[in-house]
Amino acid sequence: MNILVVVDMQNDFISGALGTAEAKLIVNGVKERAENFEGLIFFTRDTHFEDYMNTQEGEKLPVPHCIKGTWGWEICDELKEISETTEICDKPTFGSVELMESIKELSLEEEIESITLLGLCTDICVISNAMLLKAALPETKIIVDGTLSAGVTPISHKNALEAMKMCQIEVIE
Ligand SMILES: [Zn+2]
Repeated sequence: MNILVVVDMQNDFISGALGTAEAKLIVNGVKERAENFEGLIFFTRDTHFEDYMNTQEGEKLPVPHCIKGTWGWEICDELKEISETTEICDKPTFGSVELMESIKELSLEEEIESITLLGLCTDICVISNAMLLKAALPETKIIVDGTLSAGVTPISHKNALEAMKMCQIEVIE
């Protein structure tokens, strides 16, 4: 079985509080990839609450975003329908322990040939989840599609791809 993980394709990371031009550019490509993917798809959602500014993340990044239930927290319109047919892992921080555990559990029942990650942001949540999955499943091929991911900046995107390559994650550029 092949798995696709669509990371944090939420309004706040595309056109909202932390949106970037690079993020907008990947939306249609991610949609096409998800629609044509043969395998199991997971979505992740960055999920914060009203107390965001009092969290460690809020201290370092004082921009409230992805507050549960708000428009910014929602998966973007283009991907919403498809996300509703998949498992969605809400995560309070960069990496999702729930995602890792779900996939690890699946691997006990069925052989997982590959796990492809893409989405936002390459340098924070894509890399965090790729590293978690690599730790959980060291014999599974972990792929990050850099052409369908975007970073906080183009430079940090590129740096993250290089870091993942060093950790033997297959990077598509
Ligand atoms: Zn966040």
